[in-house]
Amino acid sequence: MALEETSPNPLRAAQQEIRKAVQALNLDPIVADLLSEPQRFVEVSFPVKMDDGSTRVFKGYRSQHNNALGPFKGGIRFHPEVNADEVKALSIWMSLKCAVLGLPLGGGKGGVKCNPKELSRRELEELSRAYVRSIAQVIGPEKDVPAPDVYTNPQVMAWMADEFSSLNGYNTFGVITGKPLEIGGSAGRSEATGRGCVFAIREACARLSIPLQNATVAVQGFGNAGSVVARLLHEMGARIIAVTDSTGGAYRSEGIDPISLLEFKQQTGSVKGAPGTTPLSNEQLFALECDIIIPAALENAITAAVAEDIRARIIAEAANGPTTPEADKILEDKGVLVIPDILANAGGVTVSYFEWVQNLTNYYWTEEEVNRRLEEMMVRAFQDVYQMHLDKKVSMRDAAYMVAVNRIAGAMKVRGWV
Ligand code: NAD
Repeated sequence: MALEETSPNPLRAAQQEIRKAVQALNLDPIVADLLSEPQRFVEVSFPVKMDDGSTRVFKGYRSQHNNALGPFKGGIRFHPEVNADEVKALSIWMSLKCAVLGLPLGGGKGGVKCNPKELSRRELEELSRAYVRSIAQVIGPEKDVPAPDVYTNPQVMAWMADEFSSLNGYNTFGVITGKPLEIGGSAGRSEATGRGCVFAIREACARLSIPLQNATVAVQGFGNAGSVVARLLHEMGARIIAVTDSTGGAYRSEGIDPISLLEFKQQTGSVKGAPGTTPLSNEQLFALECDIIIPAALENAITAAVAEDIRARIIAEAANGPTTPEADKILEDKGVLVIPDILANAGGVTVSYFEWVQNLTNYYWTEEEVNRRLEEMMVRAFQDVYQMHLDKKVSMRDAAYMVAVNRIAGAMKVRGWV
């Protein structure tokens, strides 16, 4: 395995990025010290009664990184590899994501070390409720508002909201977002990440004078984020020429209809073999002659070797962390415009913010209203980052970090923290 492909400690990576932004902004280094660690980190262990009558003890975390701008906000991950440093790093990225979008929220993240695929539905419900009980003292609509992340979903959020409401003695739906519509979920939430990414792509195309009509697009990953981006770009007249998922890929130079492709994937479990397409690998996808590439699968998909072959003009990071630092440098030197993850996929947390606002006011918006406000916020955030990119002559990623760190630092300053 090449050196760059060994996964770096995500916490060290996040801390380095923050230091770089603090230096570039000429801020007091104390800002970097403060932002390098969570304000509070809670580690819990709790028992769950299993179906076979045994009791198992699970370990969970909640990292509350920074709440200078507002309550902590960030998802809960159920995964066997969950660990303290990962949760801390993810909470730092949430602070930055919220700040770059101008949301009045801080960053948090939680996780439980478990394999949800091995749990029955009843065990999963027990675990979800037990985790919430163990962190109940530190979360709440005004304190810290969790949401779904890897292997957690609206049902898990519903159990958690219900448990928290029982502890409180009244319905407290604003404690968590990503809930089902029946208990205060927001219209438009399930498509928000993909839709937000498309607004960012549209803005980037306008700046680079690339007409979306007939623009050629390749999408890696055809799940929640990737399939929505593909569908919306297709509706805007772009040509989706290649799509891959974990099982293979599909290529068609004249363009693929994402709706038919989704139906095919639902029937067969794969995009590979879709009628009228030829198979292609991730390597081939990234090397395609096309206008826009959307990594929407996993982290570290674009390594230095992959970046060398990239010919696209725009990369929109729907996924979190898809580009390695070495690859980033290569893309920057090549003049590829990378819309960084903390901007490109922030549509999800933006509509989570809308969900929280709706819960607090107990007044619910239509999907049109949600989408209109999402567009407004994504366009403004894109412009803020793009302007920093032009003014400071830095990459879009560095610019996004600078916008975010500057906002958090400003709040910390007026609050008298630094
Ligand atoms: P998902 O599980 O719905 O979809 C992931 C897709 O990636 C699947 O189609 C899977 O087959 C594919 N995939 C996995 N390994 C692959 C590989 N090696 N090559 C090609 N495709 C592969 O997940 P999602 O919710 O769409 O999330 C995708 C990315 O977007 C993640 O990085 C996630 O952190 C990020 N993200 C998602 C949201 C959201 O609201 N869903 C919000 C912010 C960021």
